[in-house]
Amino acid sequence: MPKQLLFNERPNGLPDSNTFSIAEVDKGTPKENELLVKTLYLSVDPYMRGRMSDAKSYIAPFEINKPIAGGGIAQVVESKNDSIKEGTIVTGFLPFQEYTVVPADQVRVLEMHGAPISAALGALGMPGLTAYFGLNDIGQPKKGETVVISGAAGAVGSIAGQLARLKGCRVVGIVGSQEKEELLVNEFGFDAAVNYKDDQYADLLKQACPDGIDVYFENVGGEVSDQVWPLLNPLARIPVCGAIASYNLKKGESDNGPRIQTYLIKTRARMQGFLYGDYADQYETAYREMSEYVKNKDIVFKETILEGFDQIPEAFNGLFSGQNIGKQLVKVADPS
Ligand code: NAP
Repeated sequence: MPKQLLFNERPNGLPDSNTFSIAEVDKGTPKENELLVKTLYLSVDPYMRGRMSDAKSYIAPFEINKPIAGGGIAQVVESKNDSIKEGTIVTGFLPFQEYTVVPADQVRVLEMHGAPISAALGALGMPGLTAYFGLNDIGQPKKGETVVISGAAGAVGSIAGQLARLKGCRVVGIVGSQEKEELLVNEFGFDAAVNYKDDQYADLLKQACPDGIDVYFENVGGEVSDQVWPLLNPLARIPVCGAIASYNLKKGESDNGPRIQTYLIKTRARMQGFLYGDYADQYETAYREMSEYVKNKDIVFKETILEGFDQIPEAFNGLFSGQNIGKQLVKVADPS
């Protein structure tokens, strides 16, 4: 029987063995305008931790005893829709199951123009476009400016850094290992990389930004970012994409740190949160531009792929200990 990943219990801190369970479920039978699809890849993303909590947010919490859901790539095995044939590869927001019946209008047929299909969940999907919108619309980087990215070797950060490099900026990435530091400079073309786990992190960051910081693309928050604020230049821009350092705080824990207000006043810096979904009317244009960058190898991307449906919890938790380089995916099956 095909598997599904059920959400059992809201975690307090990092998800553990009680958070999820694997159940078996019928493939299902498509009705008029529905498709039966076989899951090929599933995306695990940090924002999904927010959906495991019932705190008020921009997206509804996962329901207990229901399958969790997220970005997926699947192949149509039975179609009751005239325009989508069996065998077609599609992408969409899917329940985490090996097989699913979906309305045809809830998936998009994948056209990758030479890129691997998995890129639709990374560089040419939600994370890549998030980097594009946050950096360009809120960061507004200009040639010669210094752009600092936290979470810089991840799905969003690695793309944001390369986009800033293409704008002619000095790009500095903050990461959690030496391996990732080397990757940023040698493969993603960053000018410098700093390890936030180094005892000398604050000094190293300052040395890497001799002209201060004009744009800080925020993925992490917490103590990592506390060292950024004193380096901000006048009129700096801070797109706040994520704050992963606080996603697994336990009840009663807080991540209060040095206050940022005085830095914002002194520099008149502008800090703005944003969501990928805010830019839905620009997906098409951004996708076309990003596809060109990828095709021309102006932007390269990395993926970390765990194989097997049972690996979803491990892949998800690995995001919070930096196991992934680039986009973290789970490969569920090969296309037939
Ligand atoms: P990712 O960067 O591929 O994976 C997460 C990375 O964060 C890890 O590899 C780890 O790298 C780093 N990390 C984890 N815990 C950390 C901590 N306590 N302190 C410092 N670094 C830590 O994930 P992603 O999908 O690209 O997402 C990056 C951020 O963007 C997340 O905060 C996510 O919520 C946000 N996001 C926002 C939007 C939006 O619409 N606003 C959309 C997508 C993603 P190291 O080894 O370097 O520590």
